[in-house]
Formats: sequence, structure tokens, C-alpha cells
Amino acid sequence: MLYNQVQDLKGTIRVYCRVRPFLQGQTNGQSTVDYIGENGNIMIVNPLKQGKDARKVFSFNKVFGPTVSQEQIYVDTQPLVRSVLDGFNVCIFAYGQTGSGKTYTMSGPDLTTKQTWGVNYRALSDLFQISKERADFVKYEVVELYNFIESGIRFTLTTHTLDIRNNSQLNGLNVPDASWVPVSSTQDVLELMRTGQKNRAVGATALNERSSRSHSVLTIHVYGKELVSGSILKGCLHLVDLAGSERVDKSEAVGDRLKEAQHINKSLSALGDVISALAQKSAHIPYRNSKLTQVLQDSLGGHAKTLMFVHISPEVNSIGETVSTLKFAERVA
Ligand code: ADP
Ligand code: MG
Repeated sequence: MLYNQVQDLKGTIRVYCRVRPFLQGQTNGQSTVDYIGENGNIMIVNPLKQGKDARKVFSFNKVFGPTVSQEQIYVDTQPLVRSVLDGFNVCIFAYGQTGSGKTYTMSGPDLTTKQTWGVNYRALSDLFQISKERADFVKYEVVELYNFIESGIRFTLTTHTLDIRNNSQLNGLNVPDASWVPVSSTQDVLELMRTGQKNRAVGATALNERSSRSHSVLTIHVYGKELVSGSILKGCLHLVDLAGSERVDKSEAVGDRLKEAQHINKSLSALGDVISALAQKSAHIPYRNSKLTQVLQDSLGGHAKTLMFVHISPEVNSIGETVSTLKFAERVA
């Protein structure tokens, strides 16, 4: 076990806050972020309020400002990712309103530029790399599942495996209707993800629109066999790009759109309830209240590790969502 130093994170819930920069073309307007402290504090200013009420401080494990790079983000994520190879279960979530940078953190803006890769490609490439480095001691096999949870229904799109088809260790894994594709490098995975995205997307707008209304969960199962002792390590990493957390105006949304929005709100609050029950070490953890928490049950709580990235947009017109996002995050921290 090479990564024991991260065991102290076991069972704990960490919350990182990330502030998106102003986007190109936007005037560099007034930001609602007044101050970011080194100790995980962030001060939000509401220009619509006066006096004492205008400023509020929130506290997290870390706060990343608008200039923090993808690489720096991964430095603080890597220990959790690597602990999967030691047999831990890890969940990493991206939470925030649509447009606040969830997909940027998890996937990055562009698959072809390695520098801007998000957590998921960096994690995959790290897992492949470390498993190669350890090949003399442990034989690792990697399985990936893509789950999309939309309107409370779960779709499993693709499964990729590394050299695992006949592995009896897989028997306990429930893989509905998935196709098996062997992969041995991050490059293979990128190819497959591009194909997956093509199959999924009607157009970029449609994809964006859709992704704000569904949770997407990339799950990586890792099986390791220690060559000398023969003992088996099983770890699992869930990388979750959550549906947009914005509240939908009832006067604007009707019919299916409204139902969908209510589903999303319900499942995000169910997730909040589960994580805050875990943080408070409650006897009862309400996993069964949403499909999302059911899918992730084995990797939330117990010996599992959880990291929530909460994203905020700096624009003044997002202040309402920014405050409710930070309140949600404080509740689970
Ligand atoms: P979400 O997935 O939460 O809806 P996106 O990740 O799609 O939001 O981000 C919205 C826009 O902001 C995209 O154009 C994205 O490239 C850009 N963006 C988000 N975060 C950053 C960042 N940290 N640095 C630069 N651009 C960002
Ligand atoms: Mg997105």
C-alpha cells in the first residue's frame, strides 16, 4: 500500500469551492466575490444589499479563485483518486448552477488539449500510469461505466474494460446492457468518449441543454490482485457532473419541463440530505430517496471518501444562485 497517507481522509467529506472567471466577451463587470482567504474562506458581496447584510463569509476546505488552473485543481484531488488503487471507494461531485463551470472542472473545455483536461481524464491517466508502475506487485484491471440519470431514470451507456472479460471478480457487478470495449490507455478512453458523445449529442446546444437536466456519472471500478499474497483490492471512483442546481421558475416551466426540474431539485436535495447525514454521523442515512443516491450508495459513507466541488459564477445577476449554492455546500461540509 503506497498511498496510506491519504487514509486520514477516510470517511470525511471535503468541500472545495471554485469560482469561475468572467467569460470572454463579458465586460469585466463587478464580481460578487469580495475576498478569498487562504484558509478556505470566501466573502460574497451582494450589491443589491446595504450595510452589514451585504457581505457574508462561507468556509470550506479550500477555495479556488478564478485564475486557478486545471492542473492545480488536480493536485488537490489526486490523493483521493490514487487511494482507489488501494481499494477505497471515492465519490467526486461537481455541484452548481448551469454555466458555473461543473463540466469544465470534471471534463475540461476540450478533449484535445491536455493542459485543460479536467479531473476525469487526469484521473484516468493517473490510474493507468500508477497501475503500470506497480505492475511488478499488483495486477490491476479497470472497468468504466457511464450512467446518466434523467428524470429519476438511470441509463447506462457504455462500458470499457481492460483485459477483464473472464474475470470472476466481476460477477458481483451489475452491468445492464452494456457493451464491452477493452482499453489500455487514456488515449483509448478519449476515443471512446468522443464516440459516446457523438452518439449522444444531436448538437452542441442540445447536449448542453440536456446535460443541465441530467446527472452524468462516470464510474471507474478497479480490481487489483497482489501478486505475492494473492489478495484482492477492489476500489471504485465515481466522477459525477450533477445537473444544474438552479431553481426553475414555476411560472416559466410547464409540463414535462417542470416535472424534470422538480426531479432534479428533489435528487439534489436527497444528495444533500445523504451527505449531511454522513457528515453528522447519523444512524440513518436516507439513500433510498433518489436514484442518484441509490446508484452511489456503496461509495457514500462507510469507508468511502467524498469530495464535492461547488461552483459559483461571479456575475451580479447570479447572486441568488450563488448564495443558495454556498448554503447548500455549507450544509454538507
Ligand atoms: P456547467 O457545466 O456548470 O453548466 P461549464 O463547465 O459548461 O458550466 O462552463 C460554462 C462556460 O464557462 C464554458 O464556456 C466553460 O468553458 C467556461 N468556464 C467554466 N469554468 C471555467 C474556468 N475555470 N476557466 C475558464 N473558463 C471556464
Ligand atoms: Mg455542464
